[in-house]
Amino acid sequence: MNNHQIGMKLYYSIIVLSLLFPANIFANELPDLGDISQATITTHQERQIGLQIMRQIRADPSYLNDAEIAGYLNNLGNRLISSSNEAKPDQSFEFFALQDPSINAFALPGGFMGFNSGLIIAAQSESELAGVMAHEIAHVTQKHLARMLSGPQYIGLFASIAALALAILASRSNPQAGQAVLATAQAGAIQSQLNFTRKHEKEADRIGFNILNKAGFDPHGMSAFFERLQNAGRYYENGAPSYLRTHPLTYERIADIENRTRELSYRQVPDSIDFHLVRAKLKALQGNSTDRVMEFDSRLQDKRYANEIAERYGLTYALLRDKQYKRADKELNELYRVMQSDHSISLLKNHSLGNPVLVESEYLQSGAMIEALAARVKLANKQIQDAFKIYQTALNTYPQHRALIYDYITALLNHQNAKAALEFINKQSQIIHDDINLYRLEAQCHSALGNHMLQHRAQAEVYVQEGKYRAAIEQLEIALRKDNGNFYQLSSIEARLRQLKEFVAASEKKQ
Ligand SMILES: [Zn+2]
Repeated sequence: MNNHQIGMKLYYSIIVLSLLFPANIFANELPDLGDISQATITTHQERQIGLQIMRQIRADPSYLNDAEIAGYLNNLGNRLISSSNEAKPDQSFEFFALQDPSINAFALPGGFMGFNSGLIIAAQSESELAGVMAHEIAHVTQKHLARMLSGPQYIGLFASIAALALAILASRSNPQAGQAVLATAQAGAIQSQLNFTRKHEKEADRIGFNILNKAGFDPHGMSAFFERLQNAGRYYENGAPSYLRTHPLTYERIADIENRTRELSYRQVPDSIDFHLVRAKLKALQGNSTDRVMEFDSRLQDKRYANEIAERYGLTYALLRDKQYKRADKELNELYRVMQSDHSISLLKNHSLGNPVLVESEYLQSGAMIEALAARVKLANKQIQDAFKIYQTALNTYPQHRALIYDYITALLNHQNAKAALEFINKQSQIIHDDINLYRLEAQCHSALGNHMLQHRAQAEVYVQEGKYRAAIEQLEIALRKDNGNFYQLSSIEARLRQLKEFVAASEKKQ
């Protein structure tokens, strides 16, 4: 098994492992699943299982902790969901990306949906990507996973599924062990039962198609992408791309979707700049950076691109990764020149360094993405003042762009200004709650400033976000032993410690 392929495989492994271990081995950090003896699982139980699996995925090296890519996927996903009436009010959705060149997408219990970078790059238009997404969303709204998990053979397994999600990291750091487990006949049997059935696939196509159409995308995108997958399948050594193994695709399915498309009038839907920038960034982030620079160079030379701004953005990103800082700065200027000469986009003219800035709209984060890259290029070239000017202007224009927020704090920290960094974090935490990256940066600020008590307090919240409650309790206990806090800070830590201990005790009692 490929070291980077998680997703459905991880999901199967959880089920498989749950058969091999008794439920109480890892019972110390269990979510509250309530009564699991009933024949169906509730939305709440499903969500808790999903959260537990997500904690493991987030700790995996293939998880793309990239605020811009996640932001784009969630914007696109929410646009699809809000224009459908399929989603129940108690359902939640979260979209994330994995750095993995294989073409795959998958839905986990609880509305978590993963998209491999390989799939996003393979989509030739935003409507194609939206088509796959709409199909996954339909699996979630129709509760296909919950229905499969509610089969008689799975009753009683849920407590251990959640508990054993914790064991997955251990098995993944030793891929051989994971493979051995999956190789058992029992595992194979379970895996085949967990593939979506043809009935589920047809339903996801039908409902996904409506979602795609209602959201204003080109409905042809869905069949176009599936056809591309089908054709690609012929050239894959091990048969079909991974996506086809979990979503069995037939010519009948493609024909059904095409028939639905034919009934609608043709609609041309232009891709957003966001779509092109996100794909360019994913390309720039993949594999060997020198190779990526050469590819961007050759596409630009032959004018083989769908969007020149995105292509130049990708080249600059690849150059930065390849440590060609001077050339990255040169290409950045070229990017701004192209933006200024493109009359199809709206620009702000009053930028601090005299460069144009893209105007943000509801689904357009591209302006902020370009500014975040520009600041990174300036920092790499030691043009520190220019970088900070960009951060300040860009954060005025795009105050909610997470990548800019994290990068600005990191830059302050790296340039001996932990005090300003901490003030900025405190301002942000009034709007942004439970953000693991902000807690991490906060811990670093306190460490730099010698506030050891508050450093451990912030570190505890990092662990809470990771679902490591025991480690969090330990951090709070260390914090209380540091004597550099005031009365208010001490009692707030004591209160948080009590709350976490009660939570852990309650979870253990449920087992
Ligand atoms: Zn499917």
